[in-house]
Amino acid sequence: MRVLVVEDDTDLNRQLVTALKEAGYTVDSATDGEEGHFLGDTEPYDVVVLDIGLPQLDGISVLEQWRRAGRTMPVLILTARDRWSDKVAGIDAGADDYVAKPFHIEEVLARVRALVRRAAGHASNEIECGSVRLDSRAGRVTVDGNPVKLTSHEFKVLEYLMHHRDRVVSRTELVEHLYDQDFDRDSNTIEVFVGRLRKKVAPDLIETVRGLGYRIVEPAKNAD
Ligand code: CA
Repeated sequence: MRVLVVEDDTDLNRQLVTALKEAGYTVDSATDGEEGHFLGDTEPYDVVVLDIGLPQLDGISVLEQWRRAGRTMPVLILTARDRWSDKVAGIDAGADDYVAKPFHIEEVLARVRALVRRAAGHASNEIECGSVRLDSRAGRVTVDGNPVKLTSHEFKVLEYLMHHRDRVVSRTELVEHLYDQDFDRDSNTIEVFVGRLRKKVAPDLIETVRGLGYRIVEPAKNAD
């Protein structure tokens, strides 16, 4: 899952980026409204954490421009404490949730998780697919209750596919959502990860749809 952080306070920006990376997200960041707007307009993000008070272009304007341009990614706004008018303006502009400053990083992480889940239509941190169970919060995968050890990249690929299991996910989409801007975006590496996931988790879990990408295959339920 790829997250954009737009926050001009460089310490806070760094804290958010570090905490989100530790939680397993791929993170890009910007420190002013213009750069933030540009990134959100051109790169696919699963969630954006957007400060309201930003230089060059304020957060509300950034959000309004994204929404006007049809960008629908979930946006969590950061508002100054006691500025209830910011919250109202932010929600009117299309924010999905807000956190008031000062906040505990854990609260931001919990809200980001909730937005990712909601966007994928899941009510809990755990997704199940036959005997495979993935816990986004704990970063854990089990098969028939037995833990499977995955690298963070393998986990990210599986998590993204399971979150979008109702459709085919292209290699390009995976690359765009799993790697930040600076990563060498060679889509062949995705094939390597998928190959390892088949070996480690379940051979038939991920189907290759020729020319299109990958799809999670829900194992048929036993009829008994
Ligand atoms: Ca600010």
